[in-house]
Amino acid sequence: MNNFDKFEYPSFLFDPDYYLSEYEDLGSLTTPAEQHFQRFGISEDRKPNRYFDPKFYRSTYRIPSETPAFTHFVTTGVHQHLDPSIFFSHQEYLAAYSKDIEKDVPPFYFFLKDGIKLGHSGRPTTHITPTRCWICSGATRKIFQKAILQKYDVDFFRCARCGFMQTVEPTWLEEAYASPLVSFDTGAIRRPIESAVITEDLINTAFNPTARFLDYGGAYGVFTRIMRDKGYDFYRQDKYAENLFARHFDIEDLPPPLMQSTEGRHPFELITAFEVAEHLPQPLDTFAELFKLGKNLLLSTDLQPILKDPSNASELSNWWYLCALEGQHVSFYTHESMLFLAKKFKRNYTTFKNFHLFTDEHNSGFDNYRIKKLSLWLKNAMKLNFPHKKKSFTEKDAEFIKNLIVTKADTAK
Ligand SMILES: [Zn+2]
Repeated sequence: MNNFDKFEYPSFLFDPDYYLSEYEDLGSLTTPAEQHFQRFGISEDRKPNRYFDPKFYRSTYRIPSETPAFTHFVTTGVHQHLDPSIFFSHQEYLAAYSKDIEKDVPPFYFFLKDGIKLGHSGRPTTHITPTRCWICSGATRKIFQKAILQKYDVDFFRCARCGFMQTVEPTWLEEAYASPLVSFDTGAIRRPIESAVITEDLINTAFNPTARFLDYGGAYGVFTRIMRDKGYDFYRQDKYAENLFARHFDIEDLPPPLMQSTEGRHPFELITAFEVAEHLPQPLDTFAELFKLGKNLLLSTDLQPILKDPSNASELSNWWYLCALEGQHVSFYTHESMLFLAKKFKRNYTTFKNFHLFTDEHNSGFDNYRIKKLSLWLKNAMKLNFPHKKKSFTEKDAEFIKNLIVTKADTAK
């Protein structure tokens, strides 16, 4: 006997076709889908339809774990106009359609029952389009599902045009950034030291060394401090981490007039953004801002590996760079998506390993020849500057810590 057998809810809340297509593990179900939902699905926080997402609801409204999110929503939330998922906003829906909605019917129920047939959107002003590529707006398709933070089943989509891969609209970021520095990021010190070598040489080769610079997403300010120690006028920006090492040299410390950008004039000669791009949901807005502030942009992010079978991208589900344990990586680039950005923001683009350089197209002398030379130079700089006398522990230590986390979670189950 199960308590939920008796739990009553309007029949249109359950969409059997959606339920069966969403949950592959139910493929061999011999009982009706709705029976499964009532007996197990409700308490397992499974989605009864496309528009109610129990995990979103639970984390947004902090529903205690012993209460099924669906039960809470039906008995309380829907009447209090709590939003069921990112695909339905009461505020937006009421603003657009309040005159159509039947009296005494909760707006979300009206939407499911009649609104969809009338062509209503659950987010009429925001136009959430999870199936459009965040970079080039091309059509995407779901390629796999993966557990994020060891608890959220998250869909990953890939663009058919530029290959860019993205998660659904991430609703777990607040949790993922509870500590801005994840425990197994053992590269947190090595990365700024290595990046500083490359950046210094790059600035002296290609840019004006006496200009102002910005390290975007600069974490605790280690890189900014190193660059200032070397004599470059660097500032730091980061909305998640506290500026510990470059205090008073934050983007917020600069007087507003210095931050104004006009056509052809940028506050910063070069913006660096190391291991930032993969953290950005809807990255185009951030790139627009960066290319407004910076004449040139140097970023580091790993590009997707070349697919063994181009028609089957599900092999990417095992790519280490997803970093699903920590849940901070949501955007994954290809060479094509970088070229798209370069074209859109009118920059030249060159790349080596995981470094990507966008330069001002009017930069005097920065023509294709110099870009080619720079790739060559980067290659040499890597060789010259990172000779390790002993085999580094950076990666080994990261693996060690990841295993600790997984073992701890398994023991807790
Ligand atoms: Zn795309």
